[in-house]
Amino acid sequence: MSASDPTSGGPLLDGPHDPEHDPTASYALEPEYVERLTSRILATTGETKVAESPMNGAPLAHIPQSSAADVEEAFRRARAAQAVWARTPLDQRAEALMRLHDIVLDRQDEILDLIQLESGKARKHAFDEPLHIALTARYYGRTAHQHLDTERKAGIVPGLTRVEVNRIPKGVVGIISPWNYPFTMALCDGLPALLAGNAVVTKPDAQTMLSALLGAQMLEEAGFPRDLWQVVAGPGRELGTPIIDRSDYICFTGSTATGKIIAKQCAEHLIGCSLELGGKNPILVLRDADIEKAAEGAVRACFSNAGQLCVSTERMFVADQVYDRFMERFVARIEAMTLGASTEWGVDMGTLISADQLETVTAHVEDAKDKGVRVLTGGSPRPDLAPYFFEPTVLEGVNPEMTCFGTETFGPVVSVYRFHDEADAIARANEGEYGLNGSIYSQDGDRARAIAKQIKCGTVNINEAFGATFASIDVPMGGMRESGMGRRQGSEGILRYTEPQSVGTQRGIRFAPMFGMSDEAYAKLMTANMRLMKKLGRA
Ligand code: NAD
Repeated sequence: MSASDPTSGGPLLDGPHDPEHDPTASYALEPEYVERLTSRILATTGETKVAESPMNGAPLAHIPQSSAADVEEAFRRARAAQAVWARTPLDQRAEALMRLHDIVLDRQDEILDLIQLESGKARKHAFDEPLHIALTARYYGRTAHQHLDTERKAGIVPGLTRVEVNRIPKGVVGIISPWNYPFTMALCDGLPALLAGNAVVTKPDAQTMLSALLGAQMLEEAGFPRDLWQVVAGPGRELGTPIIDRSDYICFTGSTATGKIIAKQCAEHLIGCSLELGGKNPILVLRDADIEKAAEGAVRACFSNAGQLCVSTERMFVADQVYDRFMERFVARIEAMTLGASTEWGVDMGTLISADQLETVTAHVEDAKDKGVRVLTGGSPRPDLAPYFFEPTVLEGVNPEMTCFGTETFGPVVSVYRFHDEADAIARANEGEYGLNGSIYSQDGDRARAIAKQIKCGTVNINEAFGATFASIDVPMGGMRESGMGRRQGSEGILRYTEPQSVGTQRGIRFAPMFGMSDEAYAKLMTANMRLMKKLGRA
């Protein structure tokens, strides 16, 4: 564990650390540090909820709980702040994002400590979070004008009709986020919302409030007005409705089941929403794949954050010609992984976050075992490492009778299938209701890109697990089918938070008969004009 750093305001751990991956190590946080963070929650109920660390199951913090009235107050403050913020020059808003970029890189140790204490993930997987925020902040900071400037378009009468599109902020955006990437999921979607001139009310997952609160604190340090980013805490089932009732747009990341509930509620208010949901993501290892690279990438694809990653791979289709060689290397790499609940670098996979997660993952694997699956490696909980730890697991012989065939496990469990015919592999990869992320390993980029077009997923990574698309903020990220609606990142990721407003200025002529012309003569003139425009190639 990195030492406390008074200048950065770090977590100031007051217990022994865990040099030997000791599951009994203390991870207590300084009460003043927790107090500073939790004071950002708008909560007047006087109630608190204990958050525990999955590193050792010990209490970590008492989180103040918000009521529906607190949500109302959060929106009142956010609306007042938004009215001022929307008039703040775009360059000034973009500069705050560029400062945030530096803050998260400078204070990454503090961020990583907190993410790890709350989620139990390996430090290298925690690192993806400040990295993603820095990438997102820099991308939108640098491309602000490209997305948000008023844009001239082609008017009906060249030279006489001037039309342009303004991007008006929606107002107050509600963001409901999950626990799996607690820092970046709470923050990343809010950055373009702020840049576009909105305020945000967030409800991060109850298990990982501190990481989200650290993000809120850093936004303020970067120069975003405090009231522009409101944080409420409590169960989604209770706070979801009051948030949706008052939002001008909802950005939700979480399960498909919850996403459907939220979509219905948004429809009642006729407000837009983007839904980043679950997946049952496939990898295709083609016969011409570089086997060593594919095995290395597959380990990251399946076991980053112990598989608790929306774009994580849970189904692997491997060409017959390379199946045995690939599986030998894949399993060998898994068995060489360093497992543990530790805040040191050097661990390859951390723990699941909760007893609920352990229960689901265990149930999926036990169900498959009962129905005759072959466990190529792993397959069991590891309470010796941490209370909710589950081994990286590879299953062969999974069939549709088994729960893990089509249901998202959201854990470190992958099913492997042999294929003879590529068309058949593509069809199997496209089975089911999800469509989030796919990966293809092949040394023939053109062939792999052609196959990508046949994969029903919002992102496809060639010769990479998920990072090639996820970390390229210029491209949209999200799911097809039941994996979601709308996209984060790229121009889609910011334009969703704006209302396009078309403004037309007409001069010279009007759209009605002129100079004593009859309606019929006007219709003839317009018809001739239409034919001419087509000949001239006008859109
Ligand atoms: P979840 O749907 O249970 O919870 C997500 C958030 O929604 C939490 O903040 C929760 O409090 C809130 N919530 C729960 N019920 C609610 C309701 N009725 N109304 C409003 N809010 C409610 O999901 P989870 O189990 O925390 O997260 C894991 C899921 O999220 C997985 O399916 C995973 O694939 C998905 N996920 C998707 C992405 C993506 O970008 N597509 C990213 C991360 C996670």
